Amino acid sequence: MMSTGNFYPARRTTRQVKVKGVVIGGTAPIVVQSMTNTDTADVAGTVAQVAALAQAGSELVRVTVNTAEAAAAVPEIRRQLDRRGVGVPLVGDFHFNGHKLLADYPECAAVLDKYRINPGNVGRGSRRDEQFAQLIELACRYDKPVRIGVNWGSLDQEVLARFMDENAALANPAPVEIVMRHALVASALESATMAEQLGLPKDHIILSCKVSGVQDLISVYRDLASRCDYPLHLGLTEAGMGSKGIVASTAAIGILLQEGIGDTIRVSLTPEPNGDRTQEVVVAQEILQTMGLRAFTPMVTACPGCGRTTSTYFQELASRIQGYLRESMPQWRNDYPGVEHLHVAVMGCVVNGPGESKLADIGISLPGSGERPVAPVYVDGEKTVTLKGDRIAEEFQAIVYEYVQRRYGATQTKRVG
Ligand code: SF4
Repeated sequence: MMSTGNFYPARRTTRQVKVKGVVIGGTAPIVVQSMTNTDTADVAGTVAQVAALAQAGSELVRVTVNTAEAAAAVPEIRRQLDRRGVGVPLVGDFHFNGHKLLADYPECAAVLDKYRINPGNVGRGSRRDEQFAQLIELACRYDKPVRIGVNWGSLDQEVLARFMDENAALANPAPVEIVMRHALVASALESATMAEQLGLPKDHIILSCKVSGVQDLISVYRDLASRCDYPLHLGLTEAGMGSKGIVASTAAIGILLQEGIGDTIRVSLTPEPNGDRTQEVVVAQEILQTMGLRAFTPMVTACPGCGRTTSTYFQELASRIQGYLRESMPQWRNDYPGVEHLHVAVMGCVVNGPGESKLADIGISLPGSGERPVAPVYVDGEKTVTLKGDRIAEEFQAIVYEYVQRRYGATQTKRVG
């Protein structure tokens, strides 16, 4: 594996694709994207969710375009987003009838910034090539980049059948899952070649091969990355709910990113009922930030707590500070450039508290069991003040804000870390 000189991996892809103002691939930052789960025909609901995802930091937002009503709604969704100052690029997700919807709703075709096409869901038999060609012709006409997004659950059955037949004829046939991995990659590459032959420029093509198993994803993307130079959209499909979805996505995406594979990521979490869709954006950002690949929001280091802590106070403070930093970021991003690199520590006792706090830009070491009820604060490695009483949280938050203004404010000398 190539290295940039430190532990950061060099990206495998050198080719770049532009989606509105967002560059994907090559040396461009790895792009975070997300997808709505509203009915796209519900303009108000979709606008609200796209805006929330963009506010959380999603740099592209995909919406399903599955019906005539959804296609008809897309231009109004774009208009309302623009009126709200939300310029995030919109990607249309097409299955089965995309060729027809894009042809019948030219304004939808024009305002979308990228089309996602699944070669397994374009059509069957001779209709497949014909409808795929129509989709690509429309992408060329409107000058739109396309993600050719193959999915394990909707793999092109003709490609799979061909690979199965070839495998069955071998003296030592490979296991079915290996054949499926090869068929997935072949489906993506063959579709990309076909798209280029139909006139879609190479720099308008992004590929993905999504599966739901961690080892499958790693294997498939290693293969894909070794065989092409298209930017790759990375993500585990149907990752699942809660911690399982987060852990599986992080394991798979983290390993591939560390090998320089992946130019844009999506974490496909299933939200809890009435859960917050923006969580998938937060997780994607945190994968990139904890790996040191990008910075989005000041990081809070907090100890897990143990028997030395007598209350949940320090957990509440860590949570409060994390929430305060995240909520402040939309404004701070403009007012305090570089603040996303800020590192704050909230620690539960004297064992690791002072040490970890000194390593952060700002740290607080709360009193553990049996310790004096005081909380020393460290700024740039030096103890500056000791807080006590019942307003420690408010006072620490004020210290953090004062530090942000002083260090990252426009009129001050910057020391962006
Ligand atoms: S810093 Fe103290 S409270 Fe936190 S985990 Fe370590 S020993 Fe426990």
